[in-house]
Amino acid sequence: MTYAAVVLDNDGVLTELPKRETMWRAAERTFQSFDLSAPSGEQVRALVAGNVEAIRTLCAEHRIDAGTFCYEAAAHAVREQKREMRDGLRTLYDDASTLWDLNARLGLVSDNQHETIRFILRFFGIEERFDAVYGNPYTPEGLRRMKPDPHYLDAALDDLGTRDALYVGDSAVDIEAAANAGVDSALVVRDDEVPECEPTHRIESLGELSALV
Ligand SMILES: [Mg+2]
Repeated sequence: MTYAAVVLDNDGVLTELPKRETMWRAAERTFQSFDLSAPSGEQVRALVAGNVEAIRTLCAEHRIDAGTFCYEAAAHAVREQKREMRDGLRTLYDDASTLWDLNARLGLVSDNQHETIRFILRFFGIEERFDAVYGNPYTPEGLRRMKPDPHYLDAALDDLGTRDALYVGDSAVDIEAAANAGVDSALVVRDDEVPECEPTHRIESLGELSALV
């Protein structure tokens, strides 16, 4: 089985996941900027997950425009994630280096903010390797199109000009998004926690992709 293109998820696939404290700080700063009391665990999770219904409910309760709130939340999340990468607290996985020699065009599709994704590619000097890059714009409309919605994966595949593609992710929603876009999937299992899903392939390292393309 070979593929003309490989599209990757970012968090947990290309780079380590953001630290819990990083996303907490971003949520706290967002709440502070609207003079709201400190967020609850549930509210932080809703913000990190981009749960648009929970965000809309919160905004309606406090008479805040949801678009303005999302913009502010994204700005803080981008700033805090840039900081953790500059501080060396979060980095690329070592096996990302194997992507350079992979015989396929590459794309990146993540539910992380688009600005964070662009920063990551520039910061680690791998921007030129990717021909299609989509993070989430983190607007109320963008959040509705998070995975498993295939919207941004479809857009990347259109840019790459092929459906002969493999989507590589670390979560059940990634595998679902691939199925929704009608392409094969590879689940990267980096630790003992194996999400329940049915990917086309299971791999433990990005180095195994060379045998698939
Ligand atoms: Mg992920």
